Amino acid sequence: MTMADTPPPYLRGTVTAAEQAEIEAMLGPINHDGALRAVRDGRGRQFQRLEFVGDSVLDVILAVHAWTEPRCTGCAGPEVTNPASDSRLAEVASRAGLGSWLEWRASAERIADLVETCIAACWLSGGWPQAARFVAGLVHPVSAATVQALVSGMAGLEAGRVGRRAGSALLELAAGDSVTDAYPEADEGELSTRRASVHRATAIAMIAKERGLAVRGEPEVVLSVVEDQVATVLAAQGADAALLLAKQFVPVAPQ
Ligand SMILES: [Zn+2]
Repeated sequence: MTMADTPPPYLRGTVTAAEQAEIEAMLGPINHDGALRAVRDGRGRQFQRLEFVGDSVLDVILAVHAWTEPRCTGCAGPEVTNPASDSRLAEVASRAGLGSWLEWRASAERIADLVETCIAACWLSGGWPQAARFVAGLVHPVSAATVQALVSGMAGLEAGRVGRRAGSALLELAAGDSVTDAYPEADEGELSTRRASVHRATAIAMIAKERGLAVRGEPEVVLSVVEDQVATVLAAQGADAALLLAKQFVPVAPQ
């Protein structure tokens, strides 16, 4: 951490009405416990925890976008910068004035993290529509088709390679969201370690075999069958149903 992004010692524990209005003008209503405070506090544990979840939420939204809008020229092809890269996130966020409510000048890296923290705050408060609206306004122009697929699925989406990417992103989110719930005091490092222990091809393949989903093949092959299954549920019923299914493959033991 450099001087530039060191929060001052006087950072207030409360959010003023003006700051709340500024935050909600960009994010929408934020009613998830602690999330308003977290998006103000770029050093706090809660900020990191939301960033951890928001990174995966963004991956899901961009994967579903690629699936439902395959002709988007803004995110495909060798010349295009990944919309979720840190440098790109920092660029769009500073252009939009994201974080104007912070009490210190945050580094570009911290502002990129703030984008992911905000995405999680939106997702936890208002689900996929609110998260997708924030992403569409700031990160990448995902359209109503993406939102529809996330909310209720979309007839005609075929699994395939692009669908599998969405299934894969949902499995990662399922594991990350579950460990975040199960370990309310853990910091980002601990959450990453715990997520890695459940979000492994061998562990997922073992559960898939127990469930009779796929009985043959190497773990990587079984994993791709699971990803297809999650993607199929997403196409039929939307991302919440797919996330519930995904959570069955990455169970987190209670503390
Ligand atoms: Zn795109």
